[in-house]
Amino acid sequence: MEKVRLNSGVEMPILGFGVFQIPSEETERVVTDALAVGYRLLDTAAAYGNEEAVGRAIRNSGIPREELFVTTKLWIQDAPAQDNTRHAFETSLAKLGLDHLDLYLMHQPFGDVYGQWRAMEDLHREGRAKAIGVANFYPDRLLDLIVNNEVVPAVNQIETHPFFQRADYQELMREHGVRIQSWGGLAEGKNDIFTHPVLSEIAEKHAKSVAQVVLRWLTQRGVVAIPKSVRAERMAENIDVFDFELTDDQMESIATLDTGTALIFDHHDPAIVGQIAKRRLND
Ligand code: NAP
Repeated sequence: MEKVRLNSGVEMPILGFGVFQIPSEETERVVTDALAVGYRLLDTAAAYGNEEAVGRAIRNSGIPREELFVTTKLWIQDAPAQDNTRHAFETSLAKLGLDHLDLYLMHQPFGDVYGQWRAMEDLHREGRAKAIGVANFYPDRLLDLIVNNEVVPAVNQIETHPFFQRADYQELMREHGVRIQSWGGLAEGKNDIFTHPVLSEIAEKHAKSVAQVVLRWLTQRGVVAIPKSVRAERMAENIDVFDFELTDDQMESIATLDTGTALIFDHHDPAIVGQIAKRRLND
């Protein structure tokens, strides 16, 4: 599996596995299947409620810890966030049964962002989080965080798929040493993506599925992808994208599908901010 080097020096697989919206009672089986199929990057979050099940699957797999790349995410903390962030980090680690994380992400650009980030910087300096990053930061918020803090986020995990491609933003992030990671890379199945005529035609030419074309397109752009599936055959399909290459013409055809706007969550939409920003977890 191809890897990318993050600004902290850590290497991360370019393709991993996400566990959003997988009920905790199903997660252990799903992650066990994903590890058996060959995924080594796992992406969970405190807010997903399935960290313990991810941890059980990791332990039962017998795969050495150093071969895995585990990401979890800090949910929104009130000010002053320093102590709360450390507590949230320890809670996540205890649930996962790990002593360090490969990547710890601030899940949302809300709450006491500065307090959260400074506590995350401390955890990084202590070696507990090998890399730290953010999610759902639009350019204005990301630049503010970069210029006013010491550690530059290693990753920004944002909605990125054929209908919202983020090419200019990827370039800006690259200039600052921030790696783009796609969430919702398969657009969560929206917009009839799996039968889209442009994507289907390209898929047919390579004897691949539309999902494989989309994941190839992301990784060929240097975007780290973390598709989710509860079905083992789709997990295998989604990781099997390294034996073909999209031509420049095919990359250009896919570029025409960009709408330039979010399809799933727009973190600039006051209604979405209102919904997400006030949610708090119990522990
Ligand atoms: P996604 O990966 O774009 O799409 C998942 C959907 O596609 C599921 O309905 C899945 O169904 C289906 N699917 C997967 N592979 C398929 C295939 N080969 N053919 C047909 N259908 C297929 O959506 P996502 O889960 O929202 O995003 C991926 C990961 O990103 C998440 O799991 C999570 O780790 C992360 N994420 C982060 C944030 C954030 O705020 N940072 C937000 C959203 C997601 P089945 O499961 O039934 O196969």
